[in-house]
Amino acid sequence: MGKKIGIIGAGPAGLTAGIYCARGGFETVLFAGPQPGGQLLLTTDVENYPGFSTPIQGPFLMEQMEAQAVSCGCQIKYESVHSVDFSGPSFQVHAQESHVFDAVIIATGASSKWLGLESETFFRGFGVSACAVCDGGFFKGKDVAVVGGGSAAVEEALYLARHCKNVFLLHRRDALRAEKVLQQRLERSPNIHILWNHIVKEILGQEKPKKVTSLRLQNLLTEEVYQKPIDGIFIAIGHHPNTELFRDTLTLDPAGYIVCEKGTCFTNIPGVFAAGDVMDPHYRQAVTAAGLGCMAALDAGIFLESKE
Ligand SMILES: Cc1cc2nc3c(=O)[nH]c(=O)nc-3n(C[C@H](O)[C@H](O)[C@H](O)COP(=O)(O)OP(=O)(O)OC[C@H]3O[C@@H](n4cnc5c(N)ncnc54)[C@H](O)[C@@H]3O)c2cc1C
Repeated sequence: MGKKIGIIGAGPAGLTAGIYCARGGFETVLFAGPQPGGQLLLTTDVENYPGFSTPIQGPFLMEQMEAQAVSCGCQIKYESVHSVDFSGPSFQVHAQESHVFDAVIIATGASSKWLGLESETFFRGFGVSACAVCDGGFFKGKDVAVVGGGSAAVEEALYLARHCKNVFLLHRRDALRAEKVLQQRLERSPNIHILWNHIVKEILGQEKPKKVTSLRLQNLLTEEVYQKPIDGIFIAIGHHPNTELFRDTLTLDPAGYIVCEKGTCFTNIPGVFAAGDVMDPHYRQAVTAAGLGCMAALDAGIFLESKE
């Protein structure tokens, strides 16, 4: 009987794994979960996914990836996985029904943390972003803000400073948590300005064409509330990997990311693999997630062949 691979997640990692597993001759079932298509559904223009000479829409790219996976023979279930049993020798995945697999690939991604403002949701993809590498290029020569005080926020600000006229780093405290070496680079960047003790009260903009035009800020020391013209805002207050389901079974790092053997997608359980943002706290790009999905599928194939 043919071997069966289960994939949890329908972002670039899961769908690429689906393409490779199905093409590799395995019976492949993919669970799409709460957001079929993954994080790229939250954005508009994608300019850095190879293969397209003009920007493409995130949802369009994911529709195409899904259609490609299906045409290769990957079966997609629009269901969330609510529990797993990896005690083996085969693996159980419980969604609307229970399924048994010879190998499982986890590609449940990560979620950016947001401020929780209604205006933030309204302008997401239209001047509000959580990824400087993804969207910084749209703000060349413009003024942007970055919210946060950790290493990720400083890295985002440093990246944006290469493209933008001015970068305003908004931090609610009076000291950064970022690594010292990053803080030193920040100090050497003439177009990065830190606004200490500041919070965002509201993101303001226009509806047609939809875009951010300013922020309503509050200085927590003086309590002054004022408006600052700005073209874009990057929220860099962290990410959380979607690993709650695996907390008791897989080795996770202190931030909750699945730990894989260096240079592979093997987790601590033979036959269970992880790919994409759920195991990658560093790169967090669609193309790296897709690459890791490919690696996980090839690793799973090698694992299953070695068992025969
Ligand atoms: C606003 C925004 C803009 C971005 N722009 C770009 C860009 O321009 N270029 C770029 O390269 N990258 C961009 N990124 C980053 C990119 O989207 C991610 O790196 C990529 O989507 C990660 O892919 P993934 O497959 O690992 O996870 P995700 O895309 O996060 O997909 C996770 C999948 O897991 C599923 N899932 C979760 N829990 C369960 C469960 N219990 N059961 C079943 N399924 C489950 C979800 O439904 C989803 O389908 C952007 C991200 C954001 C948030």
